Amino acid sequence: MALLNFFGAVRQVTGSCYLIESRDGARVLLECGMHQGRRQEEDRNRAPFPFDPASLDAVVVSHAHLDHTGLLPRLVASGYRGPIFATEACSELMELMLLDSAHIQEKDAEWESKWRVRQGKPPVKPLYTTKDTERTLGLRHPLPYGNAHEVAKGVQLTFHDAGHILGSAIVELDVQDHHLTRRLVFSGDLGNTCSPLMRAPTTLERADLVLLESTYGDRDHRNSSETLEELADILQQAHRDGGNVLIPAFAVGRTQDLIYYLGRFYQEGRLPQRAVFLDSPMAIRANAIYARYHQQFAQRNQAEIEARHIKRIEDWLPILRCTPTPEESMAINRVKSGAIIIAGSGMCNGGRIVHHFKHNLWRSDCHLVFPGFQAGGTTGRAIVDGAATVKVLHQRIAVKARVHTLGGFSAHAGQAQLLDWVSHFKHHPELYLVHGELEKSQVLQQVLRERLNWLANIPEPGEQIAL
Ligand SMILES: [Zn+2]
Repeated sequence: MALLNFFGAVRQVTGSCYLIESRDGARVLLECGMHQGRRQEEDRNRAPFPFDPASLDAVVVSHAHLDHTGLLPRLVASGYRGPIFATEACSELMELMLLDSAHIQEKDAEWESKWRVRQGKPPVKPLYTTKDTERTLGLRHPLPYGNAHEVAKGVQLTFHDAGHILGSAIVELDVQDHHLTRRLVFSGDLGNTCSPLMRAPTTLERADLVLLESTYGDRDHRNSSETLEELADILQQAHRDGGNVLIPAFAVGRTQDLIYYLGRFYQEGRLPQRAVFLDSPMAIRANAIYARYHQQFAQRNQAEIEARHIKRIEDWLPILRCTPTPEESMAINRVKSGAIIIAGSGMCNGGRIVHHFKHNLWRSDCHLVFPGFQAGGTTGRAIVDGAATVKVLHQRIAVKARVHTLGGFSAHAGQAQLLDWVSHFKHHPELYLVHGELEKSQVLQQVLRERLNWLANIPEPGEQIAL
């Protein structure tokens, strides 16, 4: 019979990786994500793959986030030569994200090698290079949503909209096993139904086995309209205080949502700031891809957008200023008041946001808004936890800015939305909870039993089951 191997994003949220082996010999890798977080996690990115990359027939990825795609260049450098299936928009975003990731890998290795050589140690190689990544991008095979396609002998793939970020997909795989066909549905990362641009995740009714993400299996998000009002209040207060507003944000997804919301405030005449700077080359490029695929946005907003003859997200917000070059970025330092500055990295461990910290964080008229979760060990988390000073760019800087955390802008489904999505399957398929920390998956497991009388499994890392 066909087999399913759980290699990654099992009892954790990064490193998504599953292998399907059919009885007819087809081998399909589902996801090839990077491990992210603490040092031990990231070291796992260098471990050998638990399968031979050259033996795979096809790779399928659900969306462009690095924890789902970030090891693809390493897979190719290790011998994989087959196609990489993704939705059309995901294929475009992958180029942006994987080239950026390769650049970071090369820079990190260069920096570390410099120090090692001084200590008489051999230099280190990057996890992968730009060249590996370019070869990887050449293997992309984009597919539209809703069309079945044979990706390997006896394995049919259909993507459905997951509503998480642009191009994100729920993966449906029909695996032929002699005369029997078994349907595996992988939820991917399911979107939050309150997302302003993305559609609600597609609901499906038939599957034999479902892999369900459980990132927020333990709780519901705050209502997004409350969060929106909270943001509006913060912007008014910042205007009265006279300083700038800093928003550390992720380039793909969160930033486009924020620009949409700020545009809505602008259109409603309640955005007091005079300028919004988008100070992230990657987010600027991601915007262009979002704009090209605006027909995939939620209908409600598409009507709103078309009614105003708007094709591009930034036209919705005329005071938006994109600053791709370092010179343009540095020019923002002269602006002491009345600006909103959106810059990466989202967790403030690097990127342009730390330069804006240097110029604003010590000012009591500055407001710092975190639109999402800050992981342990990051500069962002230290600030959220009330650090009086933080070290950025080799300097200690006082945190005098007013700090706010907004809870309702998650790009993931909350517990109730996960339950609702999975409840559309008829006849309770076999259910496995993945992509969640163990405690969160366990809470979801219990709620599934209590509310839907459904027994879900939490696989072990490396576990193999019959499909
Ligand atoms: Zn994601």
